Amino acid sequence: MPKYVYNFSEGSAELKSLLGGKGAGLAEMARISIPVPLGFTITTQACNDYISNRHTFPEGLLDQVESALDQLEKQMGKSLGAATNPLLVSVRSGAVISMPGMMDTILNLGLNDRSVVALAEASNNERFAWDSYRRFIQMYGDIVLGIDHNYFENSIAKLKDSKKITNDTDLDVSDLMELVSVYKEIIDKQGQSFPKDPREQLYKAIEAVFNSWDNPRAVTYRRHNEIPNDLGTAVNIQSMVFGNMGNTSATGVGFTRNPSNGKKELYGEYLINAQGEDVVAGIRTPKELSNLKNDIPDAFDQLIKTMSILENHYRQAQDIEFTIQEGKLYLLQTRTAKTTSAASLKIARDMVEEGLISKQEAILRLDPKALSQLLHPMVDPKAKIDVLATGLAASPGAGQGKVIFDADEAVEMAKSGEKVILVRWETTPDDIHGVIASQGVLTVHGGMTSHAAVVARGMGKPAVTGCNQISLNSKLGQFQVGEVIVRQGDEITVDGTTGQIILGHVDLVEPDISQDFQLVMSWADQIRTLGVRANADNAQDAAKAVEYGAEGIGLCRTEHMFMETDRLPYVQDAIVSDDKKTIDQALSAIEKMQKQDFKEIFTQMGSLPVTIRLLDPPLHEFLPSVDELNEQIEDLDAQGVSEDELKQKKEILARVLSFQEANPMLGARGVRLGIIRPDLYILQTRAIIQAALEVKEQTKIEPMVEIMIPLVGFETELQISKDLILQVADEVFKQYGQSIEFKIGTMIEVPRACVVADKIAPLADFFSFGTNDLTQMTLGFSRDDAEGKFIPQYLEKSILEKNPFETIDVEGVGQLMKMARDRARSVNPDLKLGICGEHGGDPASIKFANNVVDYVSCSPFRVPLARLAAAQAALENKEGFNL
Ligand code: PEP
Ligand code: MG
Repeated sequence: MPKYVYNFSEGSAELKSLLGGKGAGLAEMARISIPVPLGFTITTQACNDYISNRHTFPEGLLDQVESALDQLEKQMGKSLGAATNPLLVSVRSGAVISMPGMMDTILNLGLNDRSVVALAEASNNERFAWDSYRRFIQMYGDIVLGIDHNYFENSIAKLKDSKKITNDTDLDVSDLMELVSVYKEIIDKQGQSFPKDPREQLYKAIEAVFNSWDNPRAVTYRRHNEIPNDLGTAVNIQSMVFGNMGNTSATGVGFTRNPSNGKKELYGEYLINAQGEDVVAGIRTPKELSNLKNDIPDAFDQLIKTMSILENHYRQAQDIEFTIQEGKLYLLQTRTAKTTSAASLKIARDMVEEGLISKQEAILRLDPKALSQLLHPMVDPKAKIDVLATGLAASPGAGQGKVIFDADEAVEMAKSGEKVILVRWETTPDDIHGVIASQGVLTVHGGMTSHAAVVARGMGKPAVTGCNQISLNSKLGQFQVGEVIVRQGDEITVDGTTGQIILGHVDLVEPDISQDFQLVMSWADQIRTLGVRANADNAQDAAKAVEYGAEGIGLCRTEHMFMETDRLPYVQDAIVSDDKKTIDQALSAIEKMQKQDFKEIFTQMGSLPVTIRLLDPPLHEFLPSVDELNEQIEDLDAQGVSEDELKQKKEILARVLSFQEANPMLGARGVRLGIIRPDLYILQTRAIIQAALEVKEQTKIEPMVEIMIPLVGFETELQISKDLILQVADEVFKQYGQSIEFKIGTMIEVPRACVVADKIAPLADFFSFGTNDLTQMTLGFSRDDAEGKFIPQYLEKSILEKNPFETIDVEGVGQLMKMARDRARSVNPDLKLGICGEHGGDPASIKFANNVVDYVSCSPFRVPLARLAAAQAALENKEGFNL
């Protein structure tokens, strides 16, 4: 039979997975002689066995509880709920990973009509005894019996009204007695009963805490915070200490360092003559901790000493709960403090400088995802927000402005000084100017790798995508969520960190890159072995990338350059026209522009590598819309224009239609496009090589050029493209009378490419895994639709552990990547490997990548996160973690 119950004196911090955070903390504090009220912990295993045992206590549990209780009663010299000098206990949940406020707690258990009188006698404080009793019935009614707590709150409010008092503390003994009977009536009316037997109270309370593991808010919290569902909660049963025994009693919370800025200073609050839930409930306004020095000086001194012992012991900033009973301090909880990112960095740095922890420990403690708090404006955690809808948290940070549904209008409004939020069904490269002009983007459709997500991340702009709770009617100039209609010009806030769409204006906290940030990042760089590059398509993003510490560009998506509004007409001419002269003129205009783009990027990057990917998207994405062409033809027809003019338009329409595909993602894109339209790849290669030569000439620094072919699945595709590139480069070298070195590599994003990697590798200098497409094609999940359609249910039903477009599916996609690596390196041991899909900026994927590739490439704003995650991966590897 498992050991289900541990006395505090038997446990320790190491047993956290069994005792939960609170139980392990209490045991550890008891072990180092910090005063905690005596008690014992029922393990998380007992909770899991209870749940799998169809919600009945597993065999042996109650016997073990009885014997621990017996021991507790002996130590305290009191019996649970006895008629004289009764023992009262608290029953508290305690998960392994802290889930503050998500599960249940019951205080003052053991009280009934007899023991309340005994408590009054023993404490010589009748008011305290009846106050404790009414609190217990209220909690028990709410948590164990499931009666809406408003019934109880309303009856207190009514009583206070009738007595014309505002504070609970002004209720006298007879008021409290009256409340006790009113509460019992409430319970009776609900068809429930309040058990007099303390044992029954205890068993029911334990069950309620077990069951609270699966209450809806706990389940939601776990999903949001990626906490596994099978951890279960421990239950801590502890003798009560009372903060509500008069003016030398108090209850409070404290932090060993300021959790918002990290300063080593006193931080916390307390209430005199109160119990814990009063602080949480916010009924009375707590006092700042420094005032305790005057209110209860001895206890204050004990508290300061205890906080310092705890911090030195755990070597982490602690968040504590305490109670002072008649001048004596008791600790009820200690846990690692949750702090803002800025505070975490400062604390990490200070603790290293204080000699409390090593640089390695400091690095391991930081949360890579939270770093983005420092790079983007965030919704002020203290702000009251009115959440309208929630979509995918596609690009972190918060932005606010007036809703606008059209990219051109967004640009116009931004020009006139308005802040705007661009709301679209989904964005296409055509909307890019609108994205640039706006403070944030909201789309109804599209996942984490959709255009809006990728582009916004690249610019460091907040974006919420796939928000299918909203119904959009851009023609009417409005969108709707339930009853709420948001019209063009109404203000909203887009929180791309949480995925929330908030009505109206809320306060934001501005980003703040401190010296702590720079220093901690430099430690990360000393530790990591994985390279970190950035995905950047223009000089501005390239500059950001360098500022944030990228060691090169791992992916420059050239189609983004093709799609700019002023270039699209040329691109369309080049594709749709059947006149050679028009095509040549268009191509030459585009080439000039591309060359200029590349020159700017090369100049910005100096001698750092720049991987330029030749054109990828399907041809039809460049073309005018079929609907618009049809409308134009109708209009021309109505105007009675010449047959010739009409014929011309119809021919364009026919050509556009000929490019339409049922599955464009599986169609004529990537290298396939380069093969059917070699002129485009020739143009791009010429622009790249010429730009590099000219930059070398001007700056005397030779750009490190890497040309990358997308979507290769057959070695012959790469061979044909490579021959073409080499031939064009040779021609440019001859023309310029100069040459440069450059590399040619390929994206690996088609599953077939992984399987035949040994055939492709001899032709390549590098492979870069396009994990967006590789995920799409390996799982057969559309990267445009799946996240809005079935992935949420797949996560809920645990078919998927994580969104595979965010975190690499290690078992599937990951295995293909390893196969590709092994097969490729067996024939080309020097082959450089990278990842440039969105996974390159995801901490969990970076941990996987650390053992598979040489570098990751992600949006500039995620570069610091990637540097930190890479350092953590290196340390975890060293310490023998099994990844
Ligand atoms: C990929 O597929 O992972 C990739 C980087 O290319 P894109 O997202 O442009 O298709
Ligand atoms: Mg791709």
